[in-house]
Amino acid sequence: MTKKQKNLLARILVAAVFFVPLYLISEGIVQVELPKWAMLALFLVPYLTVGWDILRKAALGVKNRRVFDECFLMTVATVGAIALGEFGEGVAVMLLYQVGELFQGVAVGRSRRNISELMDIRPDYANIEGEDGNLQRVDPDEVETGSVIVIQPGEKVPIDGVIVEGASALNTSALTGESKPMDVTVDDSVLSGSINLSGVLKVRTTAEFEESTASKILDLVENAAANKSKSENFISRFARVYTPFVCYAALALAVLPPLLGMLTGLGASAFASTGAMWREWVLRACTFLVISCPCAVVISVPLSFFAGLGGASNQGILIKGSNYLETLSQVRTVAFDKTGTITKGSFEVTAVHHNPIDARQVLEYAAMAECHSSHPISLSLRRAYGKPIDQNRVSDVREISGHGILAKVDGADVAVGNERLMNRVGVPFQHCHHTGTIIHVAIRGEYAGHIVISDTLKENAREAMEALRRAGVERTVMLTGDEERVAQAVAHDVGLTDYRARLLPQDKVACVEQLLSEGRGRGKLAFVGDGINDAPVLSRADIGIAMGALGSDAAIEAADVVLMDDDPLKIAKAIRISRKCLGIVKQNIIFALGVKAVCLLLSALGLANMWVAIAADVGVMVLAVLNAIRCLFVKKL
Ligand code: ADP
Ligand code: MG
Repeated sequence: MTKKQKNLLARILVAAVFFVPLYLISEGIVQVELPKWAMLALFLVPYLTVGWDILRKAALGVKNRRVFDECFLMTVATVGAIALGEFGEGVAVMLLYQVGELFQGVAVGRSRRNISELMDIRPDYANIEGEDGNLQRVDPDEVETGSVIVIQPGEKVPIDGVIVEGASALNTSALTGESKPMDVTVDDSVLSGSINLSGVLKVRTTAEFEESTASKILDLVENAAANKSKSENFISRFARVYTPFVCYAALALAVLPPLLGMLTGLGASAFASTGAMWREWVLRACTFLVISCPCAVVISVPLSFFAGLGGASNQGILIKGSNYLETLSQVRTVAFDKTGTITKGSFEVTAVHHNPIDARQVLEYAAMAECHSSHPISLSLRRAYGKPIDQNRVSDVREISGHGILAKVDGADVAVGNERLMNRVGVPFQHCHHTGTIIHVAIRGEYAGHIVISDTLKENAREAMEALRRAGVERTVMLTGDEERVAQAVAHDVGLTDYRARLLPQDKVACVEQLLSEGRGRGKLAFVGDGINDAPVLSRADIGIAMGALGSDAAIEAADVVLMDDDPLKIAKAIRISRKCLGIVKQNIIFALGVKAVCLLLSALGLANMWVAIAADVGVMVLAVLNAIRCLFVKKL
């Protein structure tokens, strides 16, 4: 509890201790004769003790011309009740209202803390080795790219980098939701935000602190609050209209029936006198005000979304705002990129067909030309080549997306890519009967051979499609720049409903547009990609999901949802989390408004007094908040 909350709790307790005997006296249960003014004075003690801040806020609201808020409702209702001589009820309403406020404050604070604990990846310091060989703690901001930092067991990795010495196991659960430790050793890259479990690591940093994974994730999570969902916007607009409406309605309820009664004599006979009639209607109006207090809904809707975003990020699913959570829950079509999304994107070279130069050389030229690209094919060719690349031998690199690479290696023009690239540079090529992705290589305008590479499906790819179907996704479509044969085999193996092959990145946008128009009115379309040359598609889809995207800035920028590891099962999980969250929001709205409607009706009929009203209000609020917090717990989904 914060200091403020402790203070409120103390005030509530003091007021309650005062209130209970006074109430018993005022109800005649304990026989003590006191004049009316003395009772009033005594009741004002607990009333002001517990409620002065509400009265103050209401007064400030009136002064700042922002009259109609909950504090105003509560103030008018309780002052009204007290003025009519219903001291006990007036005080009780204020007391219970504050109990509700306290509960809600604690609950919200707790879930906030929960989330920031889950997101506890902000590193406080980095260790660098000083000249004397001792470790120095420095602000991670001050570490320059390329410095060597030391990470001891139990410490957080402060900055992204590559291990130069040591081996250890890393806990990456804060980043990916994966609880199994990951073994790392020299030359492996480490991401900031993971925790070093066993050995001392020396790491050469590859980014500045601001550009490191942990900072990026925190930025993203912090900015998520700004992207409000339709339901949240609706609620705040609703409250802006609703509260004044309720106030005028209460005024009408207080004034119109007795006026009508006086003018027509209708219904007035039910009351002993005109005064009693007025009193009764004004009291009913006060009850009405208490009942109509919208706090349960106003609080629980944003809290549900907030908890949902937090629960998801705990599972390694970063959602950039509750509006995206909402869209995600309506997804009926999912389009996928192939490489790196459905397949591992780590190609094995299965054959090199060469002529006239030898196989090593074909591979060497290819790897050289690919030396700057981050495309999975490039990484794989470099790995297959296996030797460090002297970048001085390479110049004029041009990557043509969906085609391949043009570059100068040792001064010779080299083209490495698919058939389309060969057509583009006008080099006749050989067809290959092998299954797999064919990378043709041309040197100095002469065909030099092709490299057959093949990718493997991700382990969970099949299960992921099954999970999506179970989560209510009707259509799964793969969009790929690869050859028809490869695409068909993959689509068949994982059980996709559809695929499109030989697409350039811009064709993928067109495809998504076509899918969007076909699916109009039948739910939303999500596109899942790795962010490498598919950023335009990510932003064009109703919702863009980037996976395994911790490395790629473009993907983190363009996507609405970022999956921190590359497990395709997370796609269905994200959808289920969003469904659960939206379900809870709906439950809360219906439940709260339903209870309010019933109470309103009862009070208008004179069947519910203020006690019922405030109990209903606080009760609904507590239940709604507890329900909202369920959004945090999504591990088992
Ligand atoms: P995907 O849709 O599978 O992600 P891309 O659009 O990234 O595929 O690439 C489509 C095709 O273009 C690849 O299958 C490959 O033939 C060729 N290609 C793209 N980038 C490269 C590269 N860096 N080197 C060689 N070939 C490439
Ligand atoms: Mg791709």
